[in-house]
Amino acid sequence: MTISAEVRLQNALALLALLYQTMEDAPIDLTTFDSRDGCFTSIQETSWDELVSEGLLSKRRDSLYFFTAKGWSEAVIRAGDVDSPDFQHRLGQLSKALKDKIKGRQDTAFISLDEVANDSGLPSGWVFNAIDSHLLCRIYGKKDAIWFEGTRGRVIEVPRDFGLVEIDLFADVRSENLRLTETVEQMEELYSDYRCSFCSAPLVGRSPWDHEYGSEEVMEYACGMTVGAPYGDVPCTQSATFPKLEDYVLTTQHDGEKWWCFAHAAQAPSTANSVILFQTWGRTEEEAKEAMRKQYAKRAKPWKG
Ligand SMILES: [Zn+2]
Repeated sequence: MTISAEVRLQNALALLALLYQTMEDAPIDLTTFDSRDGCFTSIQETSWDELVSEGLLSKRRDSLYFFTAKGWSEAVIRAGDVDSPDFQHRLGQLSKALKDKIKGRQDTAFISLDEVANDSGLPSGWVFNAIDSHLLCRIYGKKDAIWFEGTRGRVIEVPRDFGLVEIDLFADVRSENLRLTETVEQMEELYSDYRCSFCSAPLVGRSPWDHEYGSEEVMEYACGMTVGAPYGDVPCTQSATFPKLEDYVLTTQHDGEKWWCFAHAAQAPSTANSVILFQTWGRTEEEAKEAMRKQYAKRAKPWKG
């Protein structure tokens, strides 16, 4: 029979509560649970796995498990202990013992676990679990004490600003990033309207014009493509309909010291009519024609972003 996800979750949470009760004030790093123990016979094997995959338990070997710091604080909060007077008293004692160490100091204080347990009158195992799981921070959102680098279970580092409410320095940056992401998503939705469908050149101009049957809008793109223009559309340089140099007839005219070159569409219905090449000049006829060919090559160049 397959057990539903909801039932599996309930079973796993029931196991979490049972382990928490069983261990009392023992430190999590020295307390192992054997899933083969008689007291766990009613527990589904999958519940252990479930807690491991959630990062609440860690598997030592075979059937041995122990609490992770996250698992212990999760169990504390789920047990509803936090609001009980006894638990509140413990939190107050721990907080006071740590705060006393930085009183009047300008910098971080270092203190042994045993000293905190003595000063606060709290069970050492419980203090270990509270420091290990950042319990004060988790419950009050305040700056917490931590293990001094690599000394888990021995030396506690109490920061100068211990007990102050933690400020999320990056909250502003994150909300700004979120806003930008949303803008980019909206822009991407609009992207196709604002790009040439052949070469992706951006839209550079948009202007309405009226005619006797109504009005239209001219869309002009950076590659030269124009859609909806009164005298016909201009193709993108990457479109198959973009005119070739052979689609123009080049004529020349001599005028004093200059030669002029003109380009006209070779055939009447041709896109060469809409891709206009302006007259060019040179000192010789060939120079004037060469200048026209250069103008065409420049105009026919693909758009590059
Ligand atoms: Zn284009």
